[in-house]
Amino acid sequence: MILNGIPSAGAARDGSGHPYLSVVIPVYNEAANLEALHARLGPVLDQLGRSYEVIFVDDGSRDRSLEILCGLHAAHPAVRVIALNRNYGQHAAVFAGLDHAQGEVIVTLDADLQNPPEEIPRLIALVEAGHDVVGGWRQNRHDPLLRRWFSKAMNRLTSKIVGVQMRDYGCMLRAYRRDVVQVLRGCQEISSFIPALANSFAHSPIEVPVEHASRAHGRSSYNPFRLIRLGFDLATGFSLLPIQTVSLAGIGIALLGVGFGGFLLLRRLLVGPEVEGVFTLFAILFVFVGIQVLALGLIGEYIGRIYLEVRRRPRYVIQKILGSSAAAPPHDAAGRQGGGA
Ligand code: UDP
Ligand code: MG
Repeated sequence: MILNGIPSAGAARDGSGHPYLSVVIPVYNEAANLEALHARLGPVLDQLGRSYEVIFVDDGSRDRSLEILCGLHAAHPAVRVIALNRNYGQHAAVFAGLDHAQGEVIVTLDADLQNPPEEIPRLIALVEAGHDVVGGWRQNRHDPLLRRWFSKAMNRLTSKIVGVQMRDYGCMLRAYRRDVVQVLRGCQEISSFIPALANSFAHSPIEVPVEHASRAHGRSSYNPFRLIRLGFDLATGFSLLPIQTVSLAGIGIALLGVGFGGFLLLRRLLVGPEVEGVFTLFAILFVFVGIQVLALGLIGEYIGRIYLEVRRRPRYVIQKILGSSAAAPPHDAAGRQGGGA
């Protein structure tokens, strides 16, 4: 893997036509942020003294985002734009960018300026020091309290499932070496949480504290329902642990039930017939019924995933691409590439 030795040429490309760095940015209704983002990102990348490309993926925005991106592409040759035909979700949009990224090092970044572009050189330095995945960890996170609690729980769960302990799986300010991205591209499952997927293949992942800002303009696309969906998706998409935990809990509860039955029998023999405690029994019943419904839901989630997989629908559909796409995947001729979010 060649990481160094590519001539310093600003936004230009090396002899093979491939830039050293690709920056992939998913965009959904970010019209108010895009110009400010590019104005901050451009100088940071120029100062790196390396060839680069910036790939904006318009994820079916309904505002002027695509128009602004077309303007940025016209003014800056290093800016490429991939326009998806409708909204597929952040991770599918990032996948579209990864599928077309040509760089040796690939950085992902949010478009809303919550991830400061000024942090990129630190991430790249760590990739050059030998780490194949470098994750940002948002130190002073500027998100609502409930969202931060949810993230904390999800980070614990994800660390366990993936087997790589990290504080912040949700931060999309990350850098990947090309070989890891190559493996990600080969993963065709319908929905995938990219940071977790990358870490499950990484040889030497590392996490580095990064700054975090409040959203410059607009609102987060993640409402509580979407977050819970993402959580379920993440939990069932990477392992059988959730359903196995519920099965284990089932065995535990059944054993408790046997013990309780024995206890009641003993009382019947010693104290005689009783009818009190009916409401206690109701409460216990509700807990068990709840666990049963959860188990059914989990099974449904896995079956749903199988259903989505067997349909083999594309992960996203591209409407148009602005800028060179020399390294687009071979099966991308119709603007399609596999699996969805
Ligand atoms: N995004 C996207 N498609 C979506 C939702 C979001 O491409 O359906 C982009 C969005 O434009 C931003 C990034 O993903 O660049 C993160 O989105 P958001 O700020 O809503 O998420 P949060 O920061 O709250 O996790
Ligand atoms: Mg955001």
